[in-house]
Amino acid sequence: MTVIARFAPSPTGRLHVGNVRTALLNWLFVREQSGKLILRIDDTDLERSTNEYEQGIKDDLTWLGLNWDNTFNQSHRFPSYEAAAKKLKEEGLLYPCYETADELDRQRKLQRVQSKPPVYNRAALELTDADRAALEAEGRKPHWRFKLSGNPVTWDDVIRGEQTVDTASLSDPVLIREDGSFLYTLPSVVDDIEEKITHVIRGEDHVTNSGAQIEVFRALSNHLPKFAHTPLLVGKDGKGLSKRLGSLSMQELREQGLEPMAICSLLAKIGTSDPIEARPSMDVLKDEFSFSKIGRAPARFDEDELLLINGKILHETPYADVKDHLDSLNVGGGEAFWNVIRANVTKVVDAAGWSTVIYSPMPGRIEPEDVDFCKAAANCLPDNITADTWSEWIGTLKVDHARKGKTLFMPLRRALTGRDHGPEMGPILMLMGAEKARARLRGETA
Ligand code: GLU
Repeated sequence: MTVIARFAPSPTGRLHVGNVRTALLNWLFVREQSGKLILRIDDTDLERSTNEYEQGIKDDLTWLGLNWDNTFNQSHRFPSYEAAAKKLKEEGLLYPCYETADELDRQRKLQRVQSKPPVYNRAALELTDADRAALEAEGRKPHWRFKLSGNPVTWDDVIRGEQTVDTASLSDPVLIREDGSFLYTLPSVVDDIEEKITHVIRGEDHVTNSGAQIEVFRALSNHLPKFAHTPLLVGKDGKGLSKRLGSLSMQELREQGLEPMAICSLLAKIGTSDPIEARPSMDVLKDEFSFSKIGRAPARFDEDELLLINGKILHETPYADVKDHLDSLNVGGGEAFWNVIRANVTKVVDAAGWSTVIYSPMPGRIEPEDVDFCKAAANCLPDNITADTWSEWIGTLKVDHARKGKTLFMPLRRALTGRDHGPEMGPILMLMGAEKARARLRGETA
């Protein structure tokens, strides 16, 4: 059996870490199983869906390396949803209701006062043809609810194990609004049937939904996918991310200079039994994936961890892979430069700072007590700087000035780079050249 899963974003915003994790888990599972991934664009809400968001989602997925085998838009499939609605109506499973939003609200308030669960009272099922005709003559249009069985629905969740949702505790879900538009539930089930989806992998906020949807599946066909509900993402403080998702969009993270592999490494590993660390490729992530590694606890998303992983990935990234990015930042120096500084960047953009340090005119930073020492160091720096120059030079200075350790090399590092930390000085000196180094050691701008 070929595994077929789908990622089903609504094009009403850009992708954020929450829905990217869902996309990624779908992708990892499908690729690991040599199956197929369908990108379903849930655009039945024609008012809020836009082509720009749809394109943005596709661009973000492509940037992340999450490819798909087929894609379609729900807005192109209304005839299928109409046909399914017709079937359900004929079977008495989809019934018209005429309550206004205000009336439903009042009902719920009353139920709350009476300490009853806020479940729709099914008054519309009692309406006669004459009642309905009278309501429609008043100008009311029906919305349509699916009649749940009132029995418990049980399934074996791939992540959560046996799950039971008691449909007696749910309101019959509205499938069609009064303006005739479809809510999410019916189109999703119809498409999952038509596309022969074998696995529905989504966040655990859909567990209750699944209880109701399974009854819709059963009413429409013999096809029932397996369900895998993943624990939700929380921040490092354990709180939900919903308020911060805007700043955690792919667009934002990409602009901040985060690497797609860092985002995928983190999102693939949080909430699993694997260590959270930088992984070299999507192929490796795929090979390491298993639902059995995903726990029930919420997955903690920590931006600091993301930065750390980003740095780790860059420390191993060959020049060829960052060349375009460096070019776009106008950072020269080529491969030799990248190889020297890559261990000291968290983001590619940090290379710009090191480029300034090494190549742009900059004054040396020299403490008053080091002025003479730095001048002497400038005087004995050879013209031709090789891989051995730094250690030989330091060796001479050590003897001549009776300095050692930090007091020996820190004044040189500061004078040459203006910073207290950074890549090894030997290679920096080679990139910088003797002339610039001498000038900075003398406190000049060079
Ligand atoms: N468009 C739905 C959502 O983003 C899809 C949920 C599902 O995977 O069924 O929540």
